Amino acid sequence: MQHATAPTPSAAEPPRGDVPAAVLAALTLPDFDELTADQARGADCTWCRSRLPRGGAVDLGERRHEGVLFFLRSCRRCLAAAAHRGLLDHAPMCEPCTDNAAECPVGRGLYRLIRDGRR
Ligand SMILES: [Zn+2]
Ligand SMILES: [Zn+2]
Repeated sequence: MQHATAPTPSAAEPPRGDVPAAVLAALTLPDFDELTADQARGADCTWCRSRLPRGGAVDLGERRHEGVLFFLRSCRRCLAAAAHRGLLDHAPMCEPCTDNAAECPVGRGLYRLIRDGRR
């Protein structure tokens, strides 16, 4: 006898996306109303609209906006640029970051994205 086990997302699981939620929150995403259908389903980059390869793109996770589920993905270069902008916004307002960004998980995560985008 088989039991269909519905996948239940648990809080203990790591987030499905490649970027921690706190770091993602520091990024400014484009206006969801202006995303194309291909961007909304993760086929095209969230920022530059280029077609993403199967591998090599970064999963930004699922977002719900006005009842619609978006699967956002980005190319590494755009993500690095967004992380750079996010860091400029975040760091001046964040006490750990003004001292030493390595102390702040958000600052550290943004730095990592910037570095990954340069590879
Ligand atoms: Zn892009
Ligand atoms: Zn910080």
